[in-house]
Amino acid sequence: MSIYRTDSLFASEEAEEAVCNHIIRVAFESAADAEFDYAVPDQFWPIQPGQRVEVPFGRKDKPQVGFCVETDVSQKETNTEQQRTFRLKTVSKLIDKEPLLGAELMELAWWISSYYVCPLGQVLAAMVPRAVKKGAGARTEKYVYLAIDKQDIDETLGQLRGKKQRQIIEHLAQKQVFDPEMALELQGLLAAIGCGKESAKKLAQKQVIKIAEKTVLKSLPAIPSDMSTETEKVVLNEDQRKALTHIREKIGAGKFGVTLLHGVTDSGKTELYIRAIELVLQKGKSAIVLLPEIALTAQTVQRFSARFKKIAVMHSGLTAAQRNVQWQKIKSGEADVVIGARSAIFAPLRQLGLIVVDEEHEPSYKQDTAPRYNGRDVAIKRAQLASAHCILGSATPCLETLSNCHGREYFSVVRLPKRVMNLPMPEMKLIDLQQHAFAQKGLSLISEPLAEHLRETLAKKEQAILLLNRRGYSNFVFCPSCKHTLQCRNCDVTLTFHKLKFRGGDRMRTVTGKHIDYGYAMCHYCLAQTLVPEKCPLCGAGFAMIGLGSQRLEEELAKKFPQARVSRVDSDSMANRDYYRVLKDFSEGRIDVLAGTQMLAKGLHFPNVTCVGIISADTCLYLPDFRANERTFQLISHVAGRAGRSTKKGTVFVQTFLPNQPAIQFALTGDFDGFVKEELKHRKACNLPPFWRLAVVLMRDRNFDKLDAAGKAIRQKIDRIVETDRLDAVVRGPMPAVISRLQRFHRMQIIIQAPGASSMQRLFASLRVHLGRIRPTVKIAIDIDPINLL
Ligand code: ADP
Ligand code: ZN
Repeated sequence: MSIYRTDSLFASEEAEEAVCNHIIRVAFESAADAEFDYAVPDQFWPIQPGQRVEVPFGRKDKPQVGFCVETDVSQKETNTEQQRTFRLKTVSKLIDKEPLLGAELMELAWWISSYYVCPLGQVLAAMVPRAVKKGAGARTEKYVYLAIDKQDIDETLGQLRGKKQRQIIEHLAQKQVFDPEMALELQGLLAAIGCGKESAKKLAQKQVIKIAEKTVLKSLPAIPSDMSTETEKVVLNEDQRKALTHIREKIGAGKFGVTLLHGVTDSGKTELYIRAIELVLQKGKSAIVLLPEIALTAQTVQRFSARFKKIAVMHSGLTAAQRNVQWQKIKSGEADVVIGARSAIFAPLRQLGLIVVDEEHEPSYKQDTAPRYNGRDVAIKRAQLASAHCILGSATPCLETLSNCHGREYFSVVRLPKRVMNLPMPEMKLIDLQQHAFAQKGLSLISEPLAEHLRETLAKKEQAILLLNRRGYSNFVFCPSCKHTLQCRNCDVTLTFHKLKFRGGDRMRTVTGKHIDYGYAMCHYCLAQTLVPEKCPLCGAGFAMIGLGSQRLEEELAKKFPQARVSRVDSDSMANRDYYRVLKDFSEGRIDVLAGTQMLAKGLHFPNVTCVGIISADTCLYLPDFRANERTFQLISHVAGRAGRSTKKGTVFVQTFLPNQPAIQFALTGDFDGFVKEELKHRKACNLPPFWRLAVVLMRDRNFDKLDAAGKAIRQKIDRIVETDRLDAVVRGPMPAVISRLQRFHRMQIIIQAPGASSMQRLFASLRVHLGRIRPTVKIAIDIDPINLL
């Protein structure tokens, strides 16, 4: 358990009449896209950017907490109308003794605010975990120390009658606890001696001991310690050594740079990250490792914590108290390696020397609420601000990164083309589902060749992973007679059927004596749930569930392989903790087949897995998104990487209705370069990233006409900016978004394409000023470098 002192709050009562010689600028999380100026009573000075203050805000002077973002603003400069006419309001409370964010992170905040077109207050709010701001896990504890001098001990002991009281004194004297610095925790002390609070109270009354209170932070350990640790150092192979030499040179140069580590799955990238971190630690610097949330398994964390002692973790599986403790550990310098998901890029490390972004192509690095930043791109910016090195690792780097490697002088690339210890690449088998559905008279999720291989795998006591990128039982609830599908009443999407199990099976007898599937229909966007009517409300025929879902896969497995131990892994079937437990059971051989969604595609290492099945390789391809091919290629390559991670040969079955689709074909032969070449042709022809930049203005409102009018007005404004500033940009819309209604809001988007970041930035800088002035009546979200167009 860790202990930290926390800051106490100190307020000023006479703030009103106080002398103020300084003005600061403050940003609020909830306010408009603007910062506000306040006078600072001299008693609070100096204040630094990154410290929080409480100030009276708005017409009613409601106390509001905000971040100081600038100090020593000169009076002339103060901007808002309210502040010009009236005397400046004054800061009423100083919340933090020290800035939560240092100069480097403040600069990063300004950059994010400007680049991603997001109010500074919202950026700052996102950079410091809520648990830290709330002081989660803080508790007051009693501490005790001797109030008498050393030479008086014997005399005092002689005077005391109570045996327990004497024991307390003896204990403290033996441990030399004569001043507050040394104070021992009272509860623990009493427990050790085996006496109650009374004795301590009496001693305190007699002024023999003093009891002080301290605020401490406590949480359960955040780093798992119950797994077998991998400590022996591997000997790097030829490719790894070359890559490390390159990285060592870059780190040695002590200036900003980016290395793309392009290595197939299992080529030993993680091992290289670890070596690179060792290098920066030797130089007295610190490191951040970013991983996709789903790859942050106990297994991965363990791999790093076995090698580094001063490590902190940041991911969504932590409790608030754990998060706060981890953050304070980083802030105080007690940790010099941070491993975490996207937001760990804001970890308040000092002397940052290295940032690693593993699986840099992962869409989950993009945050889908404001600030809509991409963790990878922020990582590069932060590395630049800290003059640190940045390593981007991936088996399938995204096209933007690849094009940066050619276009920018601070980018370099090293390749690890082979798996470690010359493990063979798994054998890839394409299954044309159309053909099999025909031959088998009906579609089953597990085609005959895959079933056959699975049988052999199980017979050999080896393991299998089956991936189906969709939760639930079916993706439509569909009336075969009139083609009616159940739709969400809030969103423009079809509902997914989720089956429930109950005593006696999962078929239910209705009052009319019919057997039906028992369950509910759910919207994966707004999470609304509804019961499925027994009959189609339009024509009265019975409903059918069509399409594929991980639940249906589980059911089919149970039918075909009743003896196999199967576990389903998706966000429906488990919470985080259960997920870790299932992975552990799987790695220790208590589960034969893991079936689930893409959670399974990442970073797991199971040497006994020799059979991998991708039930439907097409799921991504149907998405109306320009990255559909890229996602499909990535999915197949990464899932395939799960097979044969040992000397046993692995086989991967790729089932598809589109066997000739180029992304699938290239993935099957592992031809990354071929895929990139083909895909770049399309992107170039359509002015899409990585050639051009993309941005989306997404507008939503419950009232369609209002939305329509607002959309047209914004479009006009954009056109005017493009014209007056002579910007190079293509503007489309307003048009309905792909999901045109979500949670009862209609959604429209304007899509902007520009040949470079600078025209895009200039456009939005102007638009931002305009939006600040007109205060639009519909909700507007701006997404720079969107990851998809849904
Ligand atoms: P990646 O991150 O590219 O998927 P890892 O670094 O996780 O690859 O390596 C995969 C496995 O191979 C790990 O268990 C790792 O300990 C092991 N490994 C890495 N490098 C070597 C090496 N040079 N020799 C033997 N085993 C290695
Ligand atoms: Zn919905």
